[in-house]
Amino acid sequence: MNFAPSPIADSEPPHDCPLCPRLVGFREELRQEFPTWWNAPVNAFGDPAAWLGIIGLAPGKHGANRTGRPFTGDFAGVLLFETLAKYGFATGVYEAKPDDTLQLQGAMIINAVKCLPPQNKPTPEEIRTCRPFLEGQIAALPRARVFVALGQIAHQSAVKALGGRLPKCKFGHLAEHRMPDGRILIDSYHCSRYNQNTGRLTTEMFEAVFARAAELRDESAR
Ligand code: SF4
Repeated sequence: MNFAPSPIADSEPPHDCPLCPRLVGFREELRQEFPTWWNAPVNAFGDPAAWLGIIGLAPGKHGANRTGRPFTGDFAGVLLFETLAKYGFATGVYEAKPDDTLQLQGAMIINAVKCLPPQNKPTPEEIRTCRPFLEGQIAALPRARVFVALGQIAHQSAVKALGGRLPKCKFGHLAEHRMPDGRILIDSYHCSRYNQNTGRLTTEMFEAVFARAAELRDESAR
């Protein structure tokens, strides 16, 4: 099947990463049931010269776990990619498949957990086990000065991966946290179907996050 090759391949987990037994078992079940799906750790997607890092939670079953590209093919991807395009972080046409013409400009999407967890809920141990890959991917983006965390779990993993301290960095939509080396983390509610359908996250609220990221980008360019 077509899938997006990683722009930071050296920091990705192996295709058959064995480190989380529960997730490996789920992966094997889905490989039997849906042999044409990606069903493997999902690579980062975006621009290796990224100025903005976007930290998601984990692949969605019918999105990234099926297509092999973060947020591609599921409900959450529509709002995310529309918003990235609106603020100059994406070009091309998003068609919910990894061989469409969508490209990220100055941005990279990375998941905190690379494999699909049952019910979209990784355990604390799985989040911890996968963090070295997140840290490696962040380290592979030396130009990234701003990160957006999508949801509380991504926030917690991002704070740790960026060298911050959780007691000082409380999650909140549009909250901004300065990391010890000066990088900035902006929080957002996750753009999941649930959050959008319940009104917890509106389009305007989500756009405000990337408007702020774009503002920081434009300030740094002056
Ligand atoms: S979640 Fe991360 S550490 Fe766990 S099996 Fe997948 S790639 Fe490996």
